[in-house]
Amino acid sequence: MSEKLDALRLEYPHAEAIMSLPSIPSPIWFSWSYDHSNMKTVVDDTGQIVMYGDVLVLRAGAIPPAGTEVRLTKIGGGFILAEEQETQALRFEATRQKELAKIEKDKEAQRQRLRDRQIRAEQENAKLHIPVRWTSGQKRVLSGLLRNSSGTGENARTVNHVLLLERLADGKFERSSGSFLCTSASGSNGQDWTGYRHSSDHGVDGRYVSQITCKQCLKLAGRWTDAPEWREAELGNDEGRDYDVAF
Ligand SMILES: [Zn+2]
Repeated sequence: MSEKLDALRLEYPHAEAIMSLPSIPSPIWFSWSYDHSNMKTVVDDTGQIVMYGDVLVLRAGAIPPAGTEVRLTKIGGGFILAEEQETQALRFEATRQKELAKIEKDKEAQRQRLRDRQIRAEQENAKLHIPVRWTSGQKRVLSGLLRNSSGTGENARTVNHVLLLERLADGKFERSSGSFLCTSASGSNGQDWTGYRHSSDHGVDGRYVSQITCKQCLKLAGRWTDAPEWREAELGNDEGRDYDVAF
């Protein structure tokens, strides 16, 4: 039956439904005094089409919402229910506006999430008082994928380390430039990664230094908390570069 409706739409593009008379129709339908070939009416409060006290039977398609102005056109033993073009256009426009508003709302919520994430990263990174230039970095495994990543980029489980952009020496503690704070350049800790890579999230206003999430890096950074001189996190200009550190 819906195939029939589809076929009828070629002729009646605004057709919404096929209706028929109830099994015991009012005698008025058979009176020659009335023209039933083309009738204008309104979908009633219960969402039905009522004519001459008869509730018309829905055979295919769907009846538009209550209050919609519709036109019934006689075909064979039934009627095509078509929405009046002007009201249909208004309804489509209202629906479109509603959808656009929702898309805009979702976008704004996403922007707000990114903004919050960036602010949190900046606040947390500001607590780290590392004495040499540094940025954030991630471990890269031999396969070329980032550790704990799906391969498509960062996810919530990606660990961000402090990546040193200068040599750091403090008593016995020593790291070369291009090392992670948590990892001695002299050993790979048995991990299956080959080098270093540093990257930043894409924030609302562009790149920023990712929030450091490596527990070991955060713990080690604690030793300079009271140091008189320290460097703020900075964006490297070599995003994505691999650091070839000899192990
Ligand atoms: Zn680390």
